[in-house]
Amino acid sequence: MSRPPRPEEIAGELFALMARTSRLHVQQCTECHRSVHPPRYFCPICGSARMAFVPLDGTGVVTSWTTVEYTVDPEWQPLVPYDVVVVELSEGPRVVALAQDFPRTPHAGAPVRVTVQPMSDAFVRYIARPESARAATGCGALSPSQASSARTPIADAPIPTTQEEMP
Ligand SMILES: [Zn+2]
Repeated sequence: MSRPPRPEEIAGELFALMARTSRLHVQQCTECHRSVHPPRYFCPICGSARMAFVPLDGTGVVTSWTTVEYTVDPEWQPLVPYDVVVVELSEGPRVVALAQDFPRTPHAGAPVRVTVQPMSDAFVRYIARPESARAATGCGALSPSQASSARTPIADAPIPTTQEEMP
């Protein structure tokens, strides 16, 4: 009897595809067309096993953020401190991304575009950058001093997760 596939195997397929194409993809159900992240073998909405990876343009909005000031991962240590954001993509799923090129501290509601940065043939970083054309409309961004005083310890903030179900 064969061992059932483990979730990290299908997540590995997604990461390998994005590393090969340098393009953000997400899993989508070919029956009900809902986007799913992280990838699964069965659609959590309709139960179909007909799942495919589709490329996305990566637009979305920041729903949460934090600053990483310590990491044990040697690959991320040169970046410390760095901001990470949770982005709700236009297609629905939320992804966690490294914030880059923000003129000031990221804030909830900020329009962004998520791309991927291949780090190996099996891993990519998700990168979120402000969408300048959309950002020009203004989103009530905080100044750096306001933002630092408004920072909420991550333990007190709603826990962002890529595991949650679609609404
Ligand atoms: Zn479905």
